[in-house]
Amino acid sequence: MSDCIFCKIAAGEIPAKKIYEDDLVVAFHDIRPVAPVHFLVIPKLHIPSMAELQPEHAEVMGRVMTVAAQVARETGCANGYRMIINTGKVGRQEVYHLHVHVVGGPEVLPAMVKY
Ligand code: 5GP
Ligand code: ZN
Repeated sequence: MSDCIFCKIAAGEIPAKKIYEDDLVVAFHDIRPVAPVHFLVIPKLHIPSMAELQPEHAEVMGRVMTVAAQVARETGCANGYRMIINTGKVGRQEVYHLHVHVVGGPEVLPAMVKY
């Protein structure tokens, strides 16, 4: 996807503070952190959102989740964290390249969702 910002980060075409990269996924710090620890894990493959996820994506999504947990352990989330995948309009997704947010730090996070 030529106009996708996260594809460009994955390809190294625009800068990001990358924490981890392998053949399938990239983890990098969110540009507007909402907690002391806030990074994103993306598949290198352009999957727009969870709404488009298919059985053939199981391997890459397994990697996304295990890398998220590994990077969380390495970035000061020893006592826990929250993983968030905003999806679609209702989920207030802004960037339509599937990504997992990992948010945490030393303090207990606010309640999950407020109506
Ligand atoms: P969404 O609402 O789609 O789940 O979240 C998108 C996230 O991507 C936001 O937290 C936003 O701060 C982050 N983001 C958007 N553009 C960039 C960028 O160019 N670089 C980085 N590192 N994060 C970005
Ligand atoms: Zn993309």
